[in-house]
Amino acid sequence: MTARTVIENCAIATVDADDTEHASGHLVIAGDRIESLGPGPAPRHLDGVTRRIDAAGHLATPGLVNTHHHFYQWLTRGLAQNAGLFDWLVALYPIWARIDEPMVHAAARGSLAMMVRGGVTTAMDHHYVFPRGAGDLLGAEIRAAREIGVRFTAARGSMDLGTTAGGLPPDFAVETTDGALAATEDAVRTHHDPAPGSLLQIAVAPCSPFSVSTELLREGAALARRLGVRLHTHGSETVEEEKYCQETHGCGPTAYFESTGWLGEDVWMAHCVHMTDDDLAAFARTATGVAHCPSSNARLAAGIARVPDMLAAGIPVGLGVDGTASNESGELHTELRNALLINRLGRHREHALTARQALRLGTHGGARVLGREREIGSLEPGKLADVVLWRLDGLAHSTIADPVAALVLGAPAPVTLSLVGGVPVVEHGRLLTADEEAIARAARAQARRLAELAES
Ligand code: ZN
Repeated sequence: MTARTVIENCAIATVDADDTEHASGHLVIAGDRIESLGPGPAPRHLDGVTRRIDAAGHLATPGLVNTHHHFYQWLTRGLAQNAGLFDWLVALYPIWARIDEPMVHAAARGSLAMMVRGGVTTAMDHHYVFPRGAGDLLGAEIRAAREIGVRFTAARGSMDLGTTAGGLPPDFAVETTDGALAATEDAVRTHHDPAPGSLLQIAVAPCSPFSVSTELLREGAALARRLGVRLHTHGSETVEEEKYCQETHGCGPTAYFESTGWLGEDVWMAHCVHMTDDDLAAFARTATGVAHCPSSNARLAAGIARVPDMLAAGIPVGLGVDGTASNESGELHTELRNALLINRLGRHREHALTARQALRLGTHGGARVLGREREIGSLEPGKLADVVLWRLDGLAHSTIADPVAALVLGAPAPVTLSLVGGVPVVEHGRLLTADEEAIARAARAQARRLAELAES
């Protein structure tokens, strides 16, 4: 008999196509799937109920989906505090070039623990620094995701354009083009699980136009399509990147990406801050997705992405924490709020985004960007039971009558329960799958080791 979990007496924001909400409703979870949900209490006579949760005072939503991150940066937070992107990168590349497998494992556990504790059920990482002899860095973060119990997309990044070839990263921080392609293919063949309900998928992810050769972009796109996996990179993040592309390729980043095979429904791109109307039209025409990272864009003074225009054009948009060297909070639920606030500072002002649109960006939008909207991103019968119960009857939220407004506009809400495929990973604000204090200690020790190595 399938074990069932019943959650009832809570508000529910399903984030389905009609934005169906219930002021007081129930969810029935059978195995790893949502079996049913609706208004009022759950049916009384259900077989195999192993747990019945009275969730009064809570809001149930789909688990949050992160679409852009760099876990290793957990060890280099709080540096280059007043720099824009290029200066920030140049300051950090020499430190990042000293990372190794124990560091990446500790950093991944820290990054993942922070996000999962805050309601993320699908994580993503874009790792693109692979120093020679550093060990199995991608394997270390895959191991960490398995330990924490989160659904995971690992994007195998790469850089092959060092300073002497006209790129931004120092030569010692880049791989050869052939080496990067071979390692990326190996990562997909070793780790990618395309099955329904998959906990681990791999994407092909050269880093950015100013750190990657045209050949690596072209060959990377061909590789991803040959292997049937998704493509990810950074695009249109800053005016400096726009200038670099104009000077080097005679066109802006979006036209350059299109010329190398990097627009398409299997592609999602981080940032997309500096987009012309033509760029947006190209993304809409090709269904290319966007990982919107409002805190990182503010921290590095990159600008405000045109999210309302993207949504109006039908472009898939999800939210991203981005690496924690440019978003020290490392949390995704704060990005719901920041996406709404920062976009209201743009040209659409108070009409930029609603609280419900912000919640959709962080759930269904992210699922769409990762190509998994048929499985996750909304609470609907048959979908995977990636569900979060947010506590809204405490000091921080009890006087906000609208639960979605409380979640998006209010202080970060405590997570009473988070399920990944029906399996609890957080209860009462604490990780069930790992010791947070041990993760903090290990990450601190590895951060010190990295700082010492970088100074030597
Ligand atoms: Zn990034």
